[in-house]
Amino acid sequence: MGHASRDPNPTLDPILNKFEDLGLTGPLLHGLEQAGYETPTPIQAQSIPEILDGNDVLGAAQTGTGKTAAFALPILQIMWEDDQDRPHPSKRRGGRPGRRPIRTLVLSPTRELSAQIEANFRIYGKKTRLRSTVIFGGVNQNPQVRELQSGVDTLVATPGRLLDLCNQGFVDLGDVEILVLDEADHMLDMGFLPDVKRILKLLPHDRQNLLFSATMPGPIRKLADEILNDPVTIQIAPQKPTVERIDQSVCFVAQADKPKLLNHFVESKAIGSTLVFTRTKHGADAVARRLVKAGVKAAAIHGNKTQANRVRTLNKFKNDELDVLVATDVAARGIDIDGIQTVINYDTPNTPEAYVHRIGRTGRAGREGETVMFCGG
Ligand code: AMP
Repeated sequence: MGHASRDPNPTLDPILNKFEDLGLTGPLLHGLEQAGYETPTPIQAQSIPEILDGNDVLGAAQTGTGKTAAFALPILQIMWEDDQDRPHPSKRRGGRPGRRPIRTLVLSPTRELSAQIEANFRIYGKKTRLRSTVIFGGVNQNPQVRELQSGVDTLVATPGRLLDLCNQGFVDLGDVEILVLDEADHMLDMGFLPDVKRILKLLPHDRQNLLFSATMPGPIRKLADEILNDPVTIQIAPQKPTVERIDQSVCFVAQADKPKLLNHFVESKAIGSTLVFTRTKHGADAVARRLVKAGVKAAAIHGNKTQANRVRTLNKFKNDELDVLVATDVAARGIDIDGIQTVINYDTPNTPEAYVHRIGRTGRAGREGETVMFCGG
């Protein structure tokens, strides 16, 4: 197994490489301009040349390190170069004119993360004429089916809905050349591993595989061993970015006094755009309700809200129409909002990993962040 932990610095701090030095060309460099990225992050500097070389990659990295671009950029370039060398894929396979085969499949655990990954594919690939779409559960499947039928090069999907559409005969994965499994540890936590294994059976045997995971528990290592072929391992140490840039503190407080303390923080401190974590959906609603009553622009997102409602709330938060977003762990997974200044752990997280994920919502894209934990009975 190759090993490519060349740069132990896990932060988004620029390193000396330029994107041009990594082998990216024309349309992709334009995409980077669109995204406003000037220098590659360490995971990008390490992954992009390896993926362009056709290697399988095992990436130990969490969100916030720039890992989406680390796989999306080289994948787009590979497909774009393929199209320059060969007739258009819709014309390649004589039997199915007019239809682009899915060449890249990205599996991700949540709707939000899937939507964000696909949005990034669109931004980076704007000048490549490559098409992508995203499918996830909880919404009407018809618009997704229509998009699929119009032909896409990249499909980003959550495992459940993908299997469902495959079983209904709406998705053909027989031409997939590159597979990405993103946030594999979350797939495991959310019980998606059996679905992922079923999907693997629908893919051609000969393909390039990229697996990313913040942590590497046993079942993920096993899965990696099963699907990766002599992979390059890229390790971006997980804790360091948060420790370096996020100011962490703890307040000891009785349960009954938590609402007052939260109001105090929200009202009296310049804490900016704030994400509050609660343990339960009910708790998230209650906290948001109390904040609204106190005149704070706040709302809750959690699994009981409809997808449309969650997207609306997230957009309001992104557009600064809301100052406080209250969320459960599952609902907040994959939320990619650069401007979150403060994360408040209203209820303590259940595991150290959950804590790292929660506070990783702030301090993104190289910014400073602050986090407070309410600790008490
Ligand atoms: P990710 O780890 O993919 O969730 O990315 C974390 C955040 O960093 C996202 O908001 C990206 O848009 C941003 N980002 C990724 N790569 C770069 C880069 N090279 N320069 C600046 N920002 C970046």
